[in-house]
Amino acid sequence: MLSEIIFRRFAAVGVLLLAVAALASAEAIRGTLVAPVAGEKLELALSGGGTVELELDEGLDLTMRDPQLAKRLWELRGQHQDGSRFAVEKIFTVKDGELHRVTYYCEICHITTHEPGPCMCCQGDTDLRELLGE
Ligand SMILES: [Zn+2]
Repeated sequence: MLSEIIFRRFAAVGVLLLAVAALASAEAIRGTLVAPVAGEKLELALSGGGTVELELDEGLDLTMRDPQLAKRLWELRGQHQDGSRFAVEKIFTVKDGELHRVTYYCEICHITTHEPGPCMCCQGDTDLRELLGE
């Protein structure tokens, strides 16, 4: 009984430590997208110079390829894999020096999604909305 409680304590602390480690090791990079090529990985031209190849899931990839966002400065959170690759976990646009979340909104259904494309409900057009904050 007591040993079980102690075990649970340790397990909880372990999870907490992992979460803290994940937060602490998330890195942020800023830059603009190198003109995307269909079927090829995206590249970010870093504000500080140089480029990195981006590893990201399909939804984030689609969003970053949105032509409406072609000129944006991006802040990407994630992990450097090696000198030339960055695994992306979160993306933000930077407008007037402030971070924005990229969303798409259907006026008809009042549904917000995080990927460009037709509304999942009515298949109508969605509007790009960049919302201030993380
Ligand atoms: Zn809709």
